[in-house]
Amino acid sequence: MSTRKRTTTEAPAARIRELLDGWYREHGRHTLPWRLTRDTYAVLVSEVMLQQTQVERVTPRYARWLERWPTAAALAAESPSEVIREWGGLGYNRRALHLHGAARGLASMNGAGRPGIADLRTLPGVGAYTAAAVACFAGEERVAVVDTNIGRVIARAMLGKASGRQVPPRNLTNAAEALLPAARARDHNLALMDLGAMVCVARSPACEACPLARECAWLAAGKPADEAWIATTPPFETTARFARGRIVDALREVRALSEAEVRALLPAGHRVSAAGYLQGLERDGLVEHRDGRWGLAGTFTAG
Ligand code: SF4
Repeated sequence: MSTRKRTTTEAPAARIRELLDGWYREHGRHTLPWRLTRDTYAVLVSEVMLQQTQVERVTPRYARWLERWPTAAALAAESPSEVIREWGGLGYNRRALHLHGAARGLASMNGAGRPGIADLRTLPGVGAYTAAAVACFAGEERVAVVDTNIGRVIARAMLGKASGRQVPPRNLTNAAEALLPAARARDHNLALMDLGAMVCVARSPACEACPLARECAWLAAGKPADEAWIATTPPFETTARFARGRIVDALREVRALSEAEVRALLPAGHRVSAAGYLQGLERDGLVEHRDGRWGLAGTFTAG
């Protein structure tokens, strides 16, 4: 697809909206299970799961979760240890606790009507993005939703930057709001999300297949690289997140472990930090201890 010269980095919003809409009707992931519901709790479950985990991994787990806990009240009544166990394999275990806390808040709102973005923002662990996503995807509120994928598309197409990291968050949100259509904001946000996930991917975007190619400010500028971004990510196995995940995984399998047993299950380089990891997990509400034994939260106490 050819590109035309631009004199400004400000892409014409109306044209982008129109092109995006046409593309989404044909190529959007309309049958993802969480897109077939408007249930606030179910959409919240999907959003929390999708925060750090791929769609393919989330899909079966989302179904299993809703089968086990079909309502916010059902999840709210569960022990945290069971919720953390069920989360196994999804990573970033604190999300399980956030979801549990949010379900308790949601259950307590029951009967007060569908929660709006301001209500959702009061739920534990629900940040600005999640509140906006749930308000839009479940409640069809007209609100900009800016996750990493959407931020990247907007940064590129509208602002001529390689990624959302190069744009102050407020500017990114302003650009997303300027792009919002007067109606069908839900489809619009889902379209941006799908384009970011399927076409305008972080590395090697498929510009030749992109409906926005003729309007894209970043493509028109010759795709300048994000010079400031240098991959400094350490190997995952050397991180505290890896070690903490290993501990929580082990506690999913057994009721409790001593600190010495925890130390033994960690790779050599992490053993010296075993006590610190346990204390950190305790501070995050994921584990608790009694009589020198450590278990998942709720193992020794009522959830
Ligand atoms: S033309 Fe390329 S960089 Fe621009 S929005 Fe499309 S895929 Fe992304």
